[in-house]
Amino acid sequence: MKVYLDCAATTPVAKDAAKAMLRYSGRDFGNASSLHWFGQQAREGVEAARQKAAEFLNCSLTEVFFTGSATEADNLAVSGVINTAKKNGIVKPHVIISAIEHPAVLEPVKHLEKSGEIEATYLAVGKDGIVKTESIEKAIRPDTVLISIMYANNEIGTVQPVAEIARIIRDFRGLKQYPVFHTDAVQAANYLDCDTQKLGVDSLTLSGHKIYGPKGVGVLYVKKGVGVEPVMFGGHQEQSLRPGTENVAAIAGMGAAIAGLKAQSPKIKNDVEKLRNKLIDGILKNIPKTYLNGSREHRLPNNANISFQGVEGESILMALDQKGIAVSTGSACASGSLEPSHVLMALGLSHQQAHGSVRFTLGKHTTKEEINYVLKVLPEVIKKLRAISPLK
Ligand code: PLP
Repeated sequence: MKVYLDCAATTPVAKDAAKAMLRYSGRDFGNASSLHWFGQQAREGVEAARQKAAEFLNCSLTEVFFTGSATEADNLAVSGVINTAKKNGIVKPHVIISAIEHPAVLEPVKHLEKSGEIEATYLAVGKDGIVKTESIEKAIRPDTVLISIMYANNEIGTVQPVAEIARIIRDFRGLKQYPVFHTDAVQAANYLDCDTQKLGVDSLTLSGHKIYGPKGVGVLYVKKGVGVEPVMFGGHQEQSLRPGTENVAAIAGMGAAIAGLKAQSPKIKNDVEKLRNKLIDGILKNIPKTYLNGSREHRLPNNANISFQGVEGESILMALDQKGIAVSTGSACASGSLEPSHVLMALGLSHQQAHGSVRFTLGKHTTKEEINYVLKVLPEVIKKLRAISPLK
């Protein structure tokens, strides 16, 4: 039996997305900037995907920008706003992000802070993995140009009160331009409302491969009037904000994936949540010294992040892999690093607890039989690993 419980790393590719990719990798191979028929076929593919993204985000077509990944979209959202602020005469802009942002936001901010270009505030989260809105009010300064708080966390699945944060920022901003509010909605898009009008955000990031679409494509929504300078220079694609020949196949695949999200029945969310709850309850009940990381209530329906005392998460991952079960420790981006997850450390976990954590992320394909299989196999795996572990 093969059980894939790593949907936060990447999702399977939906049939419609694969079909769209095939079409624009084959028959309709043209360059979307070419004026002839072949080019126009490709252009139609790009614009149809933009239409789907705009409907999903409830925004206009000119507010949707395709990028080469969500990492690129996040970097653009951060650096683009900072560069504009500098052009507007703010010499050393101030930026606020949460301490549990994905590296795609965290690292560009750290990099710019290190090189002395900006000042940064990293907002702490509570033990529940949620940012306290009062801390945002306290951190905002007259020179704050950007606030970036992710909609849902990739490791622990906790959901931030984005609409409430947007309200606080709008109240502070009044008629001024800053601070701009960006949210990384990469993990949220499968399960939460991404209507940008309702959320009240100024920019928002999506990734193709977390929503049953292709890898290597992202979307950055930028509200009309928000100043985002390009970080790359070249042709005039994507209104010159993201130059480079469009990856038509990936964009069309992402469009199909977004259409799939829109068409998704709310029942899927409930079904996934029920199975996830069965998994959490089964583990906490049947395996001693196990702890759920992050809020149970304000959490994506498909995420279970659990610390197993006295065992290394990596060992659990390898042992489960041998049984055909795919899970992850922390995030896929952090694998290969010996540092404990910055997200789990921000929750106040010890190094040992952080290293002993495993992330299970379900998808719409997950079945009751698969969860039963995990619950059958896992207690024995943990028992065996604990017996040989030097950790206590
Ligand atoms: N933001 C979040 C919250 C993510 O989970 C990921 C991927 O793990 C990214 C950004 C980066 O996405 P991409 O792989 O498209 O660059």
